[in-house]
Amino acid sequence: MARHFWNLRGKRDTQELLAAIVASSDDAIFSRAPDGIICCWNAGAERMFGYGAEEIVGQPVKLLIPEHRRGEGRLFGEVSAGELVDHYETEGLRKDGSQVWVSLTVSPVHDQAGSIVGASTIARDITERKRVEDELAEAQATLVRRERLSAVGEMATVIGHELRNPLGAVINLLFLARNRLTDHDDPELDGYLDRIERETNRAAALSDDLIAYMQEHDPVIVPLDFGAVVAEVLELTPPPPGIEVSVEGLGVDLQADRGQLVQILTKLITNAYQAMPDGGPLRVTGSKSDGFVEITVEDSGVGIDPAVAERLLEPFFTTKPTGTGLGLAIVKRFTEGHNGTVSIEGGPTGGARVTIRLPHAIAGATP
Ligand code: ADP
Ligand code: MG
Repeated sequence: MARHFWNLRGKRDTQELLAAIVASSDDAIFSRAPDGIICCWNAGAERMFGYGAEEIVGQPVKLLIPEHRRGEGRLFGEVSAGELVDHYETEGLRKDGSQVWVSLTVSPVHDQAGSIVGASTIARDITERKRVEDELAEAQATLVRRERLSAVGEMATVIGHELRNPLGAVINLLFLARNRLTDHDDPELDGYLDRIERETNRAAALSDDLIAYMQEHDPVIVPLDFGAVVAEVLELTPPPPGIEVSVEGLGVDLQADRGQLVQILTKLITNAYQAMPDGGPLRVTGSKSDGFVEITVEDSGVGIDPAVAERLLEPFFTTKPTGTGLGLAIVKRFTEGHNGTVSIEGGPTGGARVTIRLPHAIAGATP
């Protein structure tokens, strides 16, 4: 039907219609002579490139090609016109010097005798699509990076577990060997055994920290008594001689993962012990305020060096010769797993104060 209608309207009308379609097209449509000079230019081209027909007609087509794309000049119909280019993606140059991503279709124009008299170009603006594609590619790259990181994480966990068992065996065997070696008169031997024990314990601590840092499971929230948890931590990690620990807020109740809270306090209290080689007071407090439970561990030790204060929570950051640098990173992970926050500052009388804030009502909490 449509064909019949077109035929009825006659050739002249058809050409006028075609001209109207070209004129109102959103795509840039232009043509150029064999010498590369532009001869037709529609309104879409004006919108896309910023040149009015009166200024661009008669100019070389290479004005539309950015410097770094000049080698592809033929795509704008600049060189050979005999070939057809279909949906080629490249960049065009606007009058204001900015660039526009375009998909180009270039076709030869023949005269009635069949010889090539130029080339027509249709350029579609694909800047938006390119932007979305770039964003997608970026997102994909991020995903790949994450996957790689999580593979590294898994590896660390596997190594941690693989080390833990043999190290446990070494520690047990060392204990047995020591029991048999009571009756010797080699003073160096005890020194060797002490070092074996120290180094093995250090490796075991590192594998435990790696496992703790990498562990993925969500906290299991239960009601807890602050005083009881602190007492348990102090029993497992008693203060070295010269350090006097005081605990405030014994009766404070809170909701947290028991194992993780024990680890958090153990890491903080251990750091405090290590910061006080000459002993001194260590204050551990628990208190409740507007929807939060606040726990502080405040020592009177060497204090925080402002030059590294920002980095203390980073995994593997340590200033200690035998540190793992994972203690505070574990504290941060576990606390944030409870939707809480960690902050570290210099204490009021020197030393350091670490504050943990845990929301009082945590989702999934047992009433
Ligand atoms: P590690 O104890 O293995 O070094 P941590 O993550 O527990 O790793 O601590 C990182 C660093 O933060 C420590 O090496 C130390 O420099 C600093 N730090 C942590 N706690 C204290 C503290 N109570 N006083 C002073 N510095 C501290
Ligand atoms: Mg530590």
